[in-house]
Amino acid sequence: MKIDLNNFEKFEERHNSPNHTQIEEMLKVIGVASVDELINETVPAQIRLNKALNLPAPQTEYQFLKSFKKLAQKNRIFKSYIGMGYYNTIVPGVILRNIMENPGWYTAYTPYQAEIAQGRLEMLLNFQTMLTDLTGMEIANASLLDEGTAASEAMNLFFSTKKKDKKKATKFFVSQTCHPQTIDVMITRAEPLGIEVVVGDYNTLDLTDPELFGILLQYPDTNGEVIDYTDFIANAAANNVKVAVAADLLALVMLKAPGEMGADAVVGSAQRFGVPMGYGGPHAGYFATKDEYKRQLPGRIIGVSQDADGNPAYRMALQTREQHIKREKATSNICTAQVLLAVMASAYAVYHGPQGLKRIAYRVHGMAALLKQSLEQLGFEVNNKNFFETLKVTVESEEVKNNIRKVAEERESNFRYFADNTIGIALNQTTDVSHIAEIVQIFADATGKTVSFDVQALASDIEVAVEGGLQRTSDFLTHPVFNQYHSEHEMLRYLKRLENKDLSLVHSMISLGSCTMKLNATAEMIPVTWPEFGQMHPFAPKEQAAGYQELFAALEQWLCEITGFDAFSLQPNSGANGEYAGLLTIRNYHIANGEGHRDIVLIPSSAHGTNPASAVLAGMKVVVTKCDENGNIDVADLKARAEQYKDNLSSLMVTYPSTHGVFEESIIEICQIIHDNGGRVYMDGANMNAQVGLTNPATIGADVCHLNLHKTFCIPHGGGGPGMGPIGVVSDLAPYLPGHAVIDNNVGEKAGHAVSAAPWGSASILPISYAYIAMMGGEGLTNATKTAILNANYMQNRLKEHFPILYVGANGRSAHEMIVDCRQFKPAGIEVEDIAKRLMDYGFHAPTVSFPVPGTMMIEPTESEDKAELDRFCDAMISIREEIREVEEGKADAVNNVLKNAPHTEAIVVATEWTLPYSREKAVYPLPYVSANKFWPTVRRIDSVFGDRNLMCSCIPVSDYVEEEVI
Ligand SMILES: *Cc1c(COP(=O)(O)O)cnc(C)c1O
Repeated sequence: MKIDLNNFEKFEERHNSPNHTQIEEMLKVIGVASVDELINETVPAQIRLNKALNLPAPQTEYQFLKSFKKLAQKNRIFKSYIGMGYYNTIVPGVILRNIMENPGWYTAYTPYQAEIAQGRLEMLLNFQTMLTDLTGMEIANASLLDEGTAASEAMNLFFSTKKKDKKKATKFFVSQTCHPQTIDVMITRAEPLGIEVVVGDYNTLDLTDPELFGILLQYPDTNGEVIDYTDFIANAAANNVKVAVAADLLALVMLKAPGEMGADAVVGSAQRFGVPMGYGGPHAGYFATKDEYKRQLPGRIIGVSQDADGNPAYRMALQTREQHIKREKATSNICTAQVLLAVMASAYAVYHGPQGLKRIAYRVHGMAALLKQSLEQLGFEVNNKNFFETLKVTVESEEVKNNIRKVAEERESNFRYFADNTIGIALNQTTDVSHIAEIVQIFADATGKTVSFDVQALASDIEVAVEGGLQRTSDFLTHPVFNQYHSEHEMLRYLKRLENKDLSLVHSMISLGSCTMKLNATAEMIPVTWPEFGQMHPFAPKEQAAGYQELFAALEQWLCEITGFDAFSLQPNSGANGEYAGLLTIRNYHIANGEGHRDIVLIPSSAHGTNPASAVLAGMKVVVTKCDENGNIDVADLKARAEQYKDNLSSLMVTYPSTHGVFEESIIEICQIIHDNGGRVYMDGANMNAQVGLTNPATIGADVCHLNLHKTFCIPHGGGGPGMGPIGVVSDLAPYLPGHAVIDNNVGEKAGHAVSAAPWGSASILPISYAYIAMMGGEGLTNATKTAILNANYMQNRLKEHFPILYVGANGRSAHEMIVDCRQFKPAGIEVEDIAKRLMDYGFHAPTVSFPVPGTMMIEPTESEDKAELDRFCDAMISIREEIREVEEGKADAVNNVLKNAPHTEAIVVATEWTLPYSREKAVYPLPYVSANKFWPTVRRIDSVFGDRNLMCSCIPVSDYVEEEVI
């Protein structure tokens, strides 16, 4: 037998799920002879690419990991003493393996279906509790994108809630001792809103200035100084000026909380609670504030409510605040946040507890005290009076500074070098006495001094004292959850218990339309936790990050090939952040051309809520255009609006294929209309999974688009983040992409200010998308798109006799997703929500509910599900349709039925008493496949209204529940 020695197994066969036999069967059901025939009927000919993607030949998983390790090793990991909001930290093994590297946690979606998300909801409630405790505030959200954007959200919050006497105030003051990247992001976010950011010394600020409405301070500040802001904040308050404090969580363990100083908001990053630096991210930004702002608080808030049996249950609270509801009236566009990282940070607090955190914080502080004493003994001037773990050392001259840098880099250490001949040194959890001795030796050797004392000996005499009333006196993390899981076994079991409550991709398909829940392959995930990627500080000298730089260059080039664009920015940390960055790029382009008055953006009514929210944040006026009865953009209306506003038209935001799951034939004409009227076209790339290899944004006529790498390009959703939303642009927009204040990110001198704290956003998850493209190759990616369309159309054909399919293309085909109409069940009292909850009893997560059309479900299977899984899901939907029919025909009770009572828990079916008018079997094993792989929701239907009326957003002491029981 002849053997092909190059016949390696293909990654594509692991990613694209249906096999050849299944594909043949599916084509029969659809009624086409081949996949290509289906694609020809689905994707309009005039937008098809006529050439194959030019990408490197696909690698096998084994080949990829081997060659990628070599790239990773081009990153040289130095000891990082740079600080500036990013610190080395120790990820406890139990958290690394059981959360960060565990698909049970990282493949889950945003907890919209709360009954099957109680695990991560509990951990997010822990996160909020940890934050309110440490910051001394009343309410906190469940994460934002990073410290810079969190600080900007505080500015927006203060701006949008100004009281009468400050109605006209537009000045926001940022202390010059804030981290420079935070200041950069604040400037970006302020300008389009008409806010003037003033950077300066807070000591000389005139608080009586009627123009001034808000202030940002840093604590400890960027120079490491710890300052008591109590009197200053009181003065600000007396003048009706609001104050936000950007605070370091580890420092708060031993320092007076900003809430106790009177701060109105406290923001920051939870990175150093056990999340690797990762060359900038992802990390959980946090936001804590006063109760009075709860309705304006950006991002998600987790709250406690109760289920149908009156048991406590968690769910996302106050959702009416959010951008998808408020659209152009929203004050924040945050959608994907940083759930997985918030989960890790709170797990770190649970595992260490208040005592463990104190040990870490005091030890780091003690190290800094030792360093200060040693450097002073060596004859250096340390500027800090009160400090936590960061010191600023003055050296004689530029030359001395450069010498120290040279010696430090030879010994693989990075300090922070200020322009004024000072050097910053920030310590961290991994620092030990030998590191201090090494730093002292670097300073000595670089300046020709001799260390005449023994640092080890000094170390044994170190005493620490926090001066000036800045010592923390209040308790924190007193809730039992932070005090009972300190042994590894207990922690392991707690994490597993929570994980088991959540339905993720390890259980079954999650067919959330528009969210593209595809395979997150293990081989793609493995490099994320390699130290070569994890331990790189975002502001390390670029030459030390050669591996990362090579990865960025390749990824940008591949994404350009896939989209047809000329340049990419890898900075935005989410799709919505990409929308914002893209619109700013268009805005800066218009301004540079002397057309800064162009501020109208057209947005079709079917758009995702982040589109109008981002547009408003980018200083634009939103004009909503109509859709026709087929769900397509009403071209006549669009044309009329474009012409009506032609003098001030900035852009169009358009999703393609549309959020209705259709490739609109008129897209080229639509883009042309916008261009003819002086505007640019922003394409929302959330649906890119229907385009890759078949068409692309540049071909349809778009000028900018974001890609949700956490949708199309395999970054897992993490339970609601992280994500990445890089933007691609045509060449004339490229000079205006976001720049960065600290690190040159290669955009050039016309670059805008930063939209994220880190120059390349959440750099450490970019290897996932890189891996996906490298292992799929151009043909594999194109096959993925075709398979996604095949799977969607197979489901459409199986479901269409049972549920009306709302919109289809010219030939009756769906794109990669479809909308199933559930509104006709309303007369029988059945809502789309009942179907969503009933699916849980069948072991499935509901598709997207009520977006883009209320009362419907949008199903997107992706290419990574095989026919067997699609059939199980379709069988469940069809079976539910029959259950609805029983209600419609009066065979089942109108209120007391399997749909209204869903989901059913194990507790109610094992209870001695069973009073429901159908069998237990029907309740929990409605189809044969279910009993073989039963997923048990742990709570019954959750009452959201009750929770919003009795808002509770941090852990309740357990004793309160006991009391409730007694009553
Ligand atoms: C997911 C999505 C967004 C928002 O992306 P995030 O990454 O969650 O910020 C925007 N538009 C559409 C159509 C989407 O599906």
